[in-house]
Amino acid sequence: MHSLNDLRESFHLYAECERCQRSVQLSIEKLIQRLGEDCPITTVRERLRCSNCNIRSQDVRIVFVGPPGKRVVFQYRR
Ligand SMILES: [Zn+2]
Repeated sequence: MHSLNDLRESFHLYAECERCQRSVQLSIEKLIQRLGEDCPITTVRERLRCSNCNIRSQDVRIVFVGPPGKRVVFQYRR
């Protein structure tokens, strides 16, 4: 199970609402300040609430972006 600390360097977190399709990038640093760096992602997911629908239907999408200085750049060649 991933904790926030596992994700802080190389990942971005997005909260997504199934109902209204809203997608918001979460600040991992702010989550750590609030919940602690050992907080598992499942706990983050349980606490999320869509500010649009005001229901707890959000899912968490975890996106790998690479470590600082070595960000993953997607390149498309034709
Ligand atoms: Zn929503």
